Amino acid sequence: MKIYNTLTRKKEEFIPIEQGKVRMYVCGPTVYNYIHIGNARPMVVFDTVRRYMEHKGYEVNYVSNFTDVDDKIIKKSVEEGVDSSVISERYIEECKKDMEGLNVRPATTHPKATEEIGGMLDMINTLIEKGHAYTGADGTVYFRTRSFKDYGKLSHKNIDDLQGGNRSLLVSGEEQKEDPLDFVLWKPKKEGEPYWESPWCDGRPGWHIECSVMSKKYLGEEIDIHAGGEDLIFPHHENEVAQSEAANGKIFSRYWMHNAFLSIDNKKMSKSAGNFFTVREIAEKYDLQAVRFFLLSAHYRSPLNFSEELMEAAKNGYDRIVTSVGNLKYLMENVSAETINEREEELLKEAASFTDKFDAAMEEDFNTADAIAVIFELVKFANQNASASNSKGFLKALSDEIILLSDICGLIVEREEQMLDSDIEKLIEERQAARKNKDFARADEIRNELLQKGIILEDTREGVKWKRA
Ligand code: AMP
Ligand code: ZN
Repeated sequence: MKIYNTLTRKKEEFIPIEQGKVRMYVCGPTVYNYIHIGNARPMVVFDTVRRYMEHKGYEVNYVSNFTDVDDKIIKKSVEEGVDSSVISERYIEECKKDMEGLNVRPATTHPKATEEIGGMLDMINTLIEKGHAYTGADGTVYFRTRSFKDYGKLSHKNIDDLQGGNRSLLVSGEEQKEDPLDFVLWKPKKEGEPYWESPWCDGRPGWHIECSVMSKKYLGEEIDIHAGGEDLIFPHHENEVAQSEAANGKIFSRYWMHNAFLSIDNKKMSKSAGNFFTVREIAEKYDLQAVRFFLLSAHYRSPLNFSEELMEAAKNGYDRIVTSVGNLKYLMENVSAETINEREEELLKEAASFTDKFDAAMEEDFNTADAIAVIFELVKFANQNASASNSKGFLKALSDEIILLSDICGLIVEREEQMLDSDIEKLIEERQAARKNKDFARADEIRNELLQKGIILEDTREGVKWKRA
């Protein structure tokens, strides 16, 4: 299995630290809003990496954090007049719902920064003791960047170029830094903000230290894979490397994987520019399985542009697989023979070669674009050979193979029976009653339940209308 390693800028054979086991950390979202489909890309991509590794027999310890203390969370909590934990807990729950819709499996552990402060104090202490960190007059703790001789190795930056480019960092409030390159490990509280006691000042952690500490606690000092979007390479991951390796004296992560960005209409998707779609918005229009298909339709290191046309194409592609599996199921219910004849044995040998091709694509740095193309070839092969068969065993073998390969990509292609119109209408009536009783939580729950089953509700002046996605 080959992985492109940002650290070496090469595709390398994957050799785990411990045979048969993978220790993997994926930087998770800052929870102050619904996640957008850009955020969904690393979730889907690295969930697929995990699934493939498990398929190969590895035991994967997969850790992904929630950053639940941050300026943006605090800002929103002030706007709403609630505690910042109300905001973070709300959006953690919403994020989990979106992950479920995208069929992103929960991590082995989802640590939250606010629950790991003790470990952060310990690591910061170690860094101070080893001379890698120091305290400013107001109690801010800084990492002494030049004390880590390998600084820049992940992002392939030269530390001297960085200092030249960053002189302006030495602005008001930062005079107490020894060097503009030094970054914050711990900062003093501001009025009304959440804070924790520490030997240096009442305050809260810097962002980078969170991941170094959570990775160490749940996966150990040395891990196999650390991953996230490419915007995290610098400074976030570079700083994580510096902190972890300076504190632990060991190589932090052997492989670093970074997904390219998702853009909209060829412009970078960003919350501040307002050009983004939340997963929630997209789910109103498209089955999230089609969205997952779309996100995997390009190699994870290629930029991907979101547009209605491409999304329609993804929907059609995904439907083609679902239809084929549905068709095989229908045929299976209507044939009489259990056994597989000689010619069908031969055909199944041919079909097995698609699995080999699929594996070969995934072994090449998880080329899901090629892997999905192989699923299409298999679907075509199945469609061509199914209707002439009278054998349940043959049809089932084809169907199982399509389902297995789709499942490795996390694509649910075996859909349940469609909901009956009468059941949908009953639920809509229940939702109307809940709304009348101001039980909006139940009303939302029903809306989401229907959405999960591909039923979209529209509140119009003439009443509630519904349609199938
Ligand atoms: P954030 O909440 O901004 O820290 O982002 C969470 C994860 O989503 C990180 O791994 C980011 O790199 C990733 N991410 C954010 N925006 C995009 C985007 N437009 N395309 C791909 N990945 C993104
Ligand atoms: Zn991180």
